[in-house]
Amino acid sequence: MEAVDAISKAVTLIRSARNLAAFTGAGISTASGIPDFRSPNSGLWEAADPMLVASIFGFRANPGAFFDWVRPLAKTILDAKPNPAHMALAHLERIGILKAVITQNIDMLHQRAGNQIVYELHGHFREATCTHCFRTFDGEAILQEFLRSRDIPRCDTCNSVLKPNVILFGEQLPIQALRHAQDAAKQADVLLIIGSSLEVAPASEIPLLARRHGAKIVIINLEQTLMDGDADVVFHQDAAQLLPELIRGLEQAN
Ligand code: NAD
Ligand code: ZN
Repeated sequence: MEAVDAISKAVTLIRSARNLAAFTGAGISTASGIPDFRSPNSGLWEAADPMLVASIFGFRANPGAFFDWVRPLAKTILDAKPNPAHMALAHLERIGILKAVITQNIDMLHQRAGNQIVYELHGHFREATCTHCFRTFDGEAILQEFLRSRDIPRCDTCNSVLKPNVILFGEQLPIQALRHAQDAAKQADVLLIIGSSLEVAPASEIPLLARRHGAKIVIINLEQTLMDGDADVVFHQDAAQLLPELIRGLEQAN
């Protein structure tokens, strides 16, 4: 498909949608300076065995290794700002077109951009929980203090290690976010898939669910994804450039 045709087809789908949803992954945030996990040279998967340090088993066995690994990611995320792709989704929600954002990201940039309906399948850094007494803490304050002191965060009450409320390998997805995401996927008549390799299950089942329930699929991802063959429109382009182009296309069509 020619680039111009693809844009006008995507704009037509978005305009006609009564229930537009977006499913986002790490690729929507790379333009904000947060590396994804799978692109070559991103670094995040290279430093250590991720299945070990970023798993709940690894965390329990050696929280220090987890905190060493998470340090640069936490610093980058706390400093990051939403980019034009996040802003475009916030705009689509504000004008009443976009009904939900389902994200695998833990970076909170959709909310910082202004989106109000965001289902975070892999948790977030807003809170941290004591691994022993389950008291919850302000996650950003805990991480800022950790970045400053380098001490593993501990509970004020029982002195056990605190775990940021992000979902590690081997953990269940948060049930409420998952249910909301499944409902949004079933109701969606158009789903924008943005910056996800769709290789991380079970989150990657959400777009399949939307497809099975009849949603049209628009993919915006630098590389091929596992669903390109099932999509109605595919862009292998930078989401931070393409999404604002779609917004301009929408405005011109109105
Ligand atoms: P992924 O790393 O598997 O895939 C990211 C995809 O985005 C890649 O296919 C890449 O080609 C594409 N991409 C990169 N930059 C892009 C751009 N500018 N425009 C369009 N596409 C771009 O990411 P994933 O599928 O989200 O899975 C990784 C897991 O790691 C997620 O589950 C998430 O929880 C976690 N993670 C989160 C963050 C974050 O919160 N920002 C960052 C890294 C990893
Ligand atoms: Zn405690």
